[in-house]
Amino acid sequence: PEAAERLEALVRPVPDYPEPGVVFRDITPLLADGDALASVVDELAAWTTADHGTVDLVAGMEARGFILGAALALRLGVGFVPLRKAGKLPPPVESVSYALEYGEATLEVRTGTVPTGARVLVVDDVLATGGTAAAAAALVERCGAEVVAMGFLLEITGLGGRDVLGRHTVEALFQV
Ligand code: IMP
Repeated sequence: PEAAERLEALVRPVPDYPEPGVVFRDITPLLADGDALASVVDELAAWTTADHGTVDLVAGMEARGFILGAALALRLGVGFVPLRKAGKLPPPVESVSYALEYGEATLEVRTGTVPTGARVLVVDDVLATGGTAAAAAALVERCGAEVVAMGFLLEITGLGGRDVLGRHTVEALFQV
């Protein structure tokens, strides 16, 4: 709890961003703190190993999932797969679209980078409504791989993210 409080103090709440009524959680001060960044990666690695044994790959969502995901992959000694926003990866790609409050978004993975049967850990910075994470899980499963668990730095509770991810194991280092 003490460690979680220290991390939480490094996340800045920004009222009315990106829209009136929304409180955006800015994790850049935490990323810029070397001790905090190391402890986040250490904690996610310890949880993964203790609860899920070995994984074959870490997958992270663009863009902040790349930062934590790549660090975690290095820590676990496995490779990293970027799940990118539409149009960034050369073909062939697998795509999953999902609803946003206004409109739609798409995540893509390069076909063949996630092998059939691979045990994959999905990582992102923030779990909010769960739409992004659900699409990421669907994309991994589209490749014929297994989502072993989903790890987040921060969970914004009250938006139903955990429910949307229902059948997946979800870990967040702290909640607001
Ligand atoms: P969701 O799809 O509503 O769960 O939103 C999660 C995605 O949006 C993640 O990729 C986050 O990086 C981003 N996101 C949503 N809310 C915040 C926030 O308050 N701070 C930082 N990122 C956020």
